[in-house]
Amino acid sequence: MKKTDLIDTLIHQGQRKRLVDELKHKGIQSDAVLSAMNAVPRQWFFPKDFEQFIYRDAAFPIDHGQTISQPYTVAYQTELLGISRGDKVLEIGTGSGYQAAVLLAMGAEVYSVEYILPLLQKADGIFKAMGSQIHLFHGDGTLGLPSHAPFDAIVVTAGAPSVPETYVKQLKVGGKLVIPVGDQSDEQKMMRITKVSATQTKTEILQDCKFVPLKGTLGWK
Ligand code: SAH
Repeated sequence: MKKTDLIDTLIHQGQRKRLVDELKHKGIQSDAVLSAMNAVPRQWFFPKDFEQFIYRDAAFPIDHGQTISQPYTVAYQTELLGISRGDKVLEIGTGSGYQAAVLLAMGAEVYSVEYILPLLQKADGIFKAMGSQIHLFHGDGTLGLPSHAPFDAIVVTAGAPSVPETYVKQLKVGGKLVIPVGDQSDEQKMMRITKVSATQTKTEILQDCKFVPLKGTLGWK
């Protein structure tokens, strides 16, 4: 992507504003999250030639059988992370790069890991054109990112069969892990795990959700 491809028309801006209102109606409360959603042009991360789908509140297929997450899901996961400006956040599953861009708009220092190299390269091209500072890594995100741990928050954007131990280890005390978990690869419950002390965690089981499977060593085979 080139700088000149970064187009954000008044129509896009209007559609985005309406989407943000819809997210508010669906229960997203954090002003910081709503303004981050309003700040990120979703069309930059969206497949070309599907103009009418960009600002619908739905997931959409991208290359390699993956998806760009539903805006509500991106807002919901971001809200659950409870992050502040300057927090160090790890995302597993860069995909289109959209969720990572929303985390950047929250003022976070973003680390993101993606398994599928061409997806990572495409996202990297968008962030370079935007002039955004982000740390992207190619590899198996079920292992986390031990070389850059600990993190204030970790968000997993693919469905896991169980909670990989690696993530809790790589959180700071007080840090939060937000992860969709399910024993079937196409249906999950959102879970939030807060590391309350070096040895204790608090687990919340939240809404039903649908993500593509988390693959890899501690994911689906
Ligand atoms: N956050 C993305 C959602 C992408 S879908 C967005 O906003 O668009 C989930 C992504 O997780 C896919 O790109 C998939 O390739 C990736 N993924 C699956 N298993 C992974 C693993 N073990 N490590 C890193 N990425 C993984």
